[in-house]
Amino acid sequence: MWDEDQTAFGKRFSLSLRETLRYRCTAEHLLERGKGGADDERNIVAACHHCNRTRHRAKRPKDPVSYAKYVQSRIGKGRWHPDRLDRQPDP
Ligand SMILES: [Zn+2]
Repeated sequence: MWDEDQTAFGKRFSLSLRETLRYRCTAEHLLERGKGGADDERNIVAACHHCNRTRHRAKRPKDPVSYAKYVQSRIGKGRWHPDRLDRQPDP
């Protein structure tokens, strides 16, 4: 995930600038604003653009605790961000 240096991130993981867009750091509201979630630090975590979008795009979005368990499970299986970010960065 990158916040400021998109080019360095792309070089590190051998991604094109277009491919790096999905890994841009975003502010993820644990409880959506539309459901009363606050714009404060207790309700906001860092998430890449891809994760932020896909969580809320689900028909029945998981609550934050369930989603965290889901992510940890997928990471444990090496199946989170299934494309090229799972490999080791270039030295
Ligand atoms: Zn992500």
